[in-house]
Amino acid sequence: MTTPDIAARIAAAARLLRGARRLTAFTGAGISAESGIPTFRGAGGLWNRHDPRTLEIDWFLAHPLESWTVIRDLFYAAFARAEPNPAHRVLAGWQASGRLAALITQNIDDLHQRAGSREVIELHGNSRLLACTRCGRRDPATPETLAGLPPRCGCGGLYKPDFTFFGEALPAAAWQAAEAAARGADVMLVIGSTGEVYPAASVPRLAAAGGASIVEINPEASAFTGSVSDLHLPLKAGEALPLLARYLDPPGGGA
Ligand code: NAD
Repeated sequence: MTTPDIAARIAAAARLLRGARRLTAFTGAGISAESGIPTFRGAGGLWNRHDPRTLEIDWFLAHPLESWTVIRDLFYAAFARAEPNPAHRVLAGWQASGRLAALITQNIDDLHQRAGSREVIELHGNSRLLACTRCGRRDPATPETLAGLPPRCGCGGLYKPDFTFFGEALPAAAWQAAEAAARGADVMLVIGSTGEVYPAASVPRLAAAGGASIVEINPEASAFTGSVSDLHLPLKAGEALPLLARYLDPPGGGA
């Protein structure tokens, strides 16, 4: 794609965003890639190097030590090192100014919140808490609790990260909030998602079915590209969102 093509697409996306009444964002692992957190799929994705069974609930329960060793290294250590990037910060700024009506994420890394977003619909739960698989108690995931693996609750039960594993249902309240936000959106930004993980991947489809325009930001094509997306910006999130922000709110004012 040539530079003039990309410039024209950014201008078209900015027009859509400027005219939106309920702009909603749906983010995936790609928005955190520039913060140094690997994605699952796509170039450099974790599943090119690691066994995805680590995050299957049945395998985790049968092999807690093996699973936890990978989870602590791949997720908790990476999340602790990571900082929000310009893409997280633009979305947080748009939420604060009222430009962004809702933020739905599949991510579990807390980077939207750390960038300043206050209301985040966490479709796949979060890594901040551990949930006991025996008594259901939830406790913060601290370096101390994760020092000895597998971590155990006071009742002796196995702790699991409070995010959704493959084979588990999504948190019901988050799913309902995401469905409502998708149905109410007139423009949805879909950022850094392959669109292959269901039911999360049905969120942009719901928005599109309700008449929303879908603007996708992803350096690679995804399952949304050319079908669900009306406009694809083939850029990194940390490049595209600051560009859009400059269009919408130019430094020094102006149109
Ligand atoms: P995915 O890993 O399946 O795909 C990532 C997508 O991001 C790819 O399409 C890739 O092309 C794109 N991408 C890579 N770099 C990008 C960039 N700089 N800017 C924009 N896009 C970029 O991700 P998914 O669709 O979100 O689904 C995977 C599941 O993995 C989700 O359920 C999520 O919970 C989980 N996950 C989360 C994290 C995290 O919290 N950061 C990390 C890995 C996986």
